[in-house]
Amino acid sequence: MDDRPKSLTGGCNCGAVRFILRRPPRQALYCHCKRCQRRSGAAASASAIVDAADVAFEDETHLRRWQPPDDGAAKVFCDVCGSQIMSVDDDVRAIRLGVFDDDPEVRPALRQWLASAACWEPVPDDGLPIHDRGRPSGE
Ligand SMILES: [Zn+2]
Ligand SMILES: [Zn+2]
Repeated sequence: MDDRPKSLTGGCNCGAVRFILRRPPRQALYCHCKRCQRRSGAAASASAIVDAADVAFEDETHLRRWQPPDDGAAKVFCDVCGSQIMSVDDDVRAIRLGVFDDDPEVRPALRQWLASAACWEPVPDDGLPIHDRGRPSGE
């Protein structure tokens, strides 16, 4: 039996940004904050939490970063096609689940920033723990 870890890969719509994970994400979550609504155009955004050291990009030429002026993680996207790739917060990367090529091998386990949830779409009643603001530290 081949028990080597499967490579987790992903990338943007145009192919300019490609990445590989060295190990599976440790957690995933939905974020309902207003910034995620604006950058994604959706009611919430699902991301996988990984250590910075575990993600490698083939070529960083087209990775563009928006740093919020006050606080919060930088948002990183492809400057050719606009695909949202991840957020960057110190040594933590929150990679958008939608940019994985296949199964990211993790499922969202909580919802955060419910205080700013979109009024136009009900929060799914899926039993996940919810947090009014950001996820508790250490999760
Ligand atoms: Zn692209
Ligand atoms: Zn958010």
